[in-house]
Amino acid sequence: MPPSLAVIVPAYNETEVLERFHARLAAVLDGMQAVASVIYIDDGSADDTWAIIDRLSQADPRVVGLRLSRNFGKEAAMTAGLDAADADAVVLIDADLQDPPELIPDLVARLHEGNDVVYATRADRAGETRLKRFTSAAFYRVMERLSDNPMPRDTGDFRVLSRRAVAALRELRERQRFMKGLFAWIGYRQVSFRYHRDARLAGDTKWNYWRLTNLAIEGITSFSVAPLRLATWLGMSAAGVAFLYGLWVILKVLVWGDPVRGYPTLLVVILFMGGAQLMGLGIIGEYVGRTYAETKRRPLYYVEDRRGTRHPSPGHDPHGPGQA
Ligand code: UDP
Ligand code: MG
Repeated sequence: MPPSLAVIVPAYNETEVLERFHARLAAVLDGMQAVASVIYIDDGSADDTWAIIDRLSQADPRVVGLRLSRNFGKEAAMTAGLDAADADAVVLIDADLQDPPELIPDLVARLHEGNDVVYATRADRAGETRLKRFTSAAFYRVMERLSDNPMPRDTGDFRVLSRRAVAALRELRERQRFMKGLFAWIGYRQVSFRYHRDARLAGDTKWNYWRLTNLAIEGITSFSVAPLRLATWLGMSAAGVAFLYGLWVILKVLVWGDPVRGYPTLLVVILFMGGAQLMGLGIIGEYVGRTYAETKRRPLYYVEDRRGTRHPSPGHDPHGPGQA
């Protein structure tokens, strides 16, 4: 029996490209040996994305559609796909054709060489601004410094996973799903595959700097407690400087006397200490907030509707353990 292959495609407002995407993907799958299925996850789109998925599922028996009850974000949509997938090789790919589906056979071939995760690494970044390139490079550098198991650079979510890698990922039910970090965290045999990344074919990127910054904070705080340590160090050095300065002030009063002066320095010290404390509090707050979100143990997503004959295994239905 040929190995099975599942392709997971999160889609959020992708009316403009979804059909073209499926045409290209279907052509690739036609040329492959594997028993393929394609799982489209409509992440609460406001446009016709679900109608298109519905149509695709009627036209192509390989298509499975899942519609989430609202927009849960790409990370949750991918998780829904991973929960539904039941195959020897599971591909994660964006719907906007930035990840060329034509690469899938090469990725899968590397997987069957005995690897568990084959991630596509961009050789360049077409259609991205210089600022985006710079900030993303800076982010990876920071993460490499801070984290114990650094994630590969210039790597999106485009990758293929073995069955056991998918099983490992399914066990990670944390709310803060920084998938790139989770992929690296599970370990096993991971290799990169370099390719040329295309610019988005149509539609707009769903990311803006606000979302990217939040994702970066999420990435850092979910894989490192270094910021907490930074607060400690900052607090200690501020306190140390303040202590030395205090000694100097006392000495000055004892030697020369000091009736009223010192108002500006007083303000400076108060502001500095206040700032350092606020920063420390903010960092602690980030972690407390995360702890709070995790302790609620809410499901990561809800499935509102399904399409396609190949029903995902029952263990991963909304009420099954996959959602715990
Ligand atoms: N996506 C999603 N939910 C969201 C945002 C995006 O499922 O809330 C999907 C989107 O449809 C696309 C993929 O995630 O298939 C990547 O999104 P996008 O192209 O906006 O991100 P970028 O390529 O800029 O990283
Ligand atoms: Mg994109």
